[in-house]
Amino acid sequence: MNKALSIDAPVREIIERDFKGLYSGELGLSPIKGGQSAANDALATLDITGYANARSEVLPKSRRGASVLSPYIRHNLLTLDQVYRAVKTAPYKDREKFRDELYWQEYARHLYARIGTRLFENLRFEANSTTQGDGWNRDMLCVDEVVAELEADGWLVNQTRMWLASHWTVRNDVGWLHGQERMYRELIDGSRAANLLGWQWTVGAGTGKPYGFARWQVEKRAPGLCGQCPLVNACPIQEFPEEVSLNRLDVDSLLERDPDPEKTSGPRAVIKNDAPKFVLLTIDSMGDSDPALLAHPDLPAVFVFNDDALRKLQLSSRRLGFYLETLQDLAERRELQVYLGDPYQFAKDNPVSVTFAPIPSFKKFHGLAEIHPYPWLQQPHTGSVKSFSSWRKFK
Ligand SMILES: Cc1cc2nc3c(=O)[nH]c(=O)nc-3n(C[C@H](O)[C@H](O)[C@H](O)COP(=O)(O)OP(=O)(O)OC[C@H]3O[C@@H](n4cnc5c(N)ncnc54)[C@H](O)[C@@H]3O)c2cc1C
Repeated sequence: MNKALSIDAPVREIIERDFKGLYSGELGLSPIKGGQSAANDALATLDITGYANARSEVLPKSRRGASVLSPYIRHNLLTLDQVYRAVKTAPYKDREKFRDELYWQEYARHLYARIGTRLFENLRFEANSTTQGDGWNRDMLCVDEVVAELEADGWLVNQTRMWLASHWTVRNDVGWLHGQERMYRELIDGSRAANLLGWQWTVGAGTGKPYGFARWQVEKRAPGLCGQCPLVNACPIQEFPEEVSLNRLDVDSLLERDPDPEKTSGPRAVIKNDAPKFVLLTIDSMGDSDPALLAHPDLPAVFVFNDDALRKLQLSSRRLGFYLETLQDLAERRELQVYLGDPYQFAKDNPVSVTFAPIPSFKKFHGLAEIHPYPWLQQPHTGSVKSFSSWRKFK
């Protein structure tokens, strides 16, 4: 049964009232606000001058060159194409580097769309994926600061995501699957595609070359931090971790070639089975420019929080807050109904128009009235997705 939710209240109150048992950690909101209006403001003020040199800076925050657009990109409040075009007058070096990162996001989506849940397994090299434990010892200030930021803001720069993933598995030999789950739970931009890719690549499962995290990066990217650390004179990461060579795994033929590109990319044109009465939004497409929403300006929009999935995933309240802020913002412009229950059942019981999402769970939808194509930056191709460079090279 889908339970109607009233979202006409402060977001914290809604979470306390309606989401008991459906999130983990202490109740709080991210300083990064959800919603199309916030996304539009972030894009309007985007200035990537200096990005190429500053994207990996960590502290002080004023030195950071990262755009902080990922929560909006992840939920397609900003499409990759929109962001790609928005930087056309930026300095050449910064524009190229930034666009390259947008392509990493697109690569993650293509890879996940093609191989699906196989991305939860070591892709090409055998890294420790399963050992239980907590790989973040917080007696070190660098780890403590970064985990605290992850928990408070639900967001990190790429550099510190790499620190955490490396420390968890490469240094502490705890299974990367558990680490990615822990990070995924906290991130407001958490996507299986980008998070799994980030972990696989950092721990070496994607490349065979684990990324080593040591004091060197902390002194370079967060100068002054080590001086405040209780372990300044007994730093456990003074040296880089020992280099290891990971066993190569047999290459899955699906990484080399896609025998069913239509299944990967979803439809290229709208599929119409019935006249829709609602537009159903999913977390993969929550923006005003959602293709199904745009096609039906007069239909009510619907969003169904997936009760079972939330109970199982135990995401942080920051993520729920981001969704609720996004929905409240949308409700200022569109008729919107919000439910807690089962989105797949809603789509079975009602004729809905929905935008395809390139994730394995999309196949749980049956009997959709209308399916709109996903807004790819680049249509998925049939060639190799074994590495970012082979994926980019394929013509
Ligand atoms: C272990 C690990 C886990 C990660 N988990 C996620 C995740 O769950 N969701 C997510 O969106 N990104 C993830 N990333 C990728 C990247 O760290 C974030 O996209 C980026 O830090 C977001 O900050 P930004 O928007 O300021 O990025 P910017 O540096 O400003 O880049 C602009 C956009 O490019 C894309 N991008 C940048 N770097 C990457 C990258 N390495 N891989 C893929 N896309 C990239 C993002 O969409 C980002 O918003 C992960 C990376 C690692 C190493």
